[in-house]
Amino acid sequence: MQIERERRRARYLAALGIERWVSRSSAVVAQAQVQVSLETEAAAPAVRAPIIESPVIAGDWQALVPQVMGCRRCALHAGRTHAVFGVGNREAEWMVVGEAPGSEEDKLGEPFVGAAGQLLTAMLAAIHLPREQAFITNVLKCRPPENRDPRPDEIAQCRPYLQRQIELVKPKLILAFGRIAAHNLLGLDQPLSRLRGQLHHVPDLGMPVVVTYHPAYLLRVPADKRKAWEDLKFARRVFEELPS
Ligand code: URA
Repeated sequence: MQIERERRRARYLAALGIERWVSRSSAVVAQAQVQVSLETEAAAPAVRAPIIESPVIAGDWQALVPQVMGCRRCALHAGRTHAVFGVGNREAEWMVVGEAPGSEEDKLGEPFVGAAGQLLTAMLAAIHLPREQAFITNVLKCRPPENRDPRPDEIAQCRPYLQRQIELVKPKLILAFGRIAAHNLLGLDQPLSRLRGQLHHVPDLGMPVVVTYHPAYLLRVPADKRKAWEDLKFARRVFEELPS
């Protein structure tokens, strides 16, 4: 039992790139990739949610789900197969927030089911968090075409849904995966490299937030998996110290 658990954990850590030997030459390549990544993920110009009047959403899950599934507040509704509401435990202690559905998620109506989703599942498992125990959702509920970055008006129109999900779940801790999630949860626009490694809080609501790299970014830049692992361990430590 114990051995099997250890093996499983070793597989998750391997997915995270931990315990992987890196030769000097590949370290140089990795460094070059990090430079590229800094221009994209970590230091790209911030997409801030502008202050656009959007109605406050009240009501329970039963009211919220059909609103999201039938939403036509922005142009993205026209291209979607499914709106992606979110999955998991609606009374979760951990909430996971990503950016927006991709093509697999749009097809299936579930967040994080493609390649990035598999890495996300491994990342959560590495800190002993089975995916089903968390509530997993995105800043945007509909897929932007060609997986482009969400636009400020789309984020502003979708924001009340995320806000209401957070209010209903009342998680003890939120994990923000990637720059778009971090900026929109926190209302900040600093590079991701500056936001990670510290504890933040959702303005007004007060829930603690830990920021880390988006798994899609880590698939492109595996050299940063080690930093993501540090972030995840930090999140676990913070969680353990929160009052129950
Ligand atoms: N990337 C995200 O941010 N969310 C998903 O649901 C899938 C990929």
